[in-house]
Amino acid sequence: MTSAANRDPVNAYIALGANLGDAQRSVQDAMQQIAQLPQTQLLSCSSLYRTAPIESSGGDYINAVVKVLCNLPAYSLLTMLQKIEHEAGRERPYRNAPRSLDLDLLLYGSARIDSEKLSVPHPRMRDRAFVLLPLQEIAPELVSRADLLRVADQRITRL
Ligand code: AMP
Repeated sequence: MTSAANRDPVNAYIALGANLGDAQRSVQDAMQQIAQLPQTQLLSCSSLYRTAPIESSGGDYINAVVKVLCNLPAYSLLTMLQKIEHEAGRERPYRNAPRSLDLDLLLYGSARIDSEKLSVPHPRMRDRAFVLLPLQEIAPELVSRADLLRVADQRITRL
């Protein structure tokens, strides 16, 4: 069995979003918390973006994407991201409710996982301008022209 210490570090991409309270502050604070996760190095952060809610209610969202170099297993990283969400006061009164903080694991190296708890690559990441534009900023090789054309009608402003 391979121990965690022998695992090769993996480049992972995390999408951040918030549309309740001081959303810019929530996203920036979450970036700091991600930087402090164990066995995780924050490599780059996109700009913040203001975006129209998609499949969600409430006001505009603030979104961003970060890249980390991570030695944690994918499920451990997800659990830690959920803890950060929880500490930001996230409640789930109903599906797609407005949210004080939403963290999605977009990519975990080249891993393909499809379980009830975790799907990577994130199944909807290529349908969302609020993922693709910040991702393109920090990893242009991961976003194609066709991706961008698909989401061209979604309102998004770089802050
Ligand atoms: P959401 O309400 O969009 O934050 O979805 C949270 C739920 O999606 C949780 O039950 C997670 O276990 C699940 N989930 C599946 N894949 C992912 C992923 N790649 N990133 C974050 N949550 C995920």
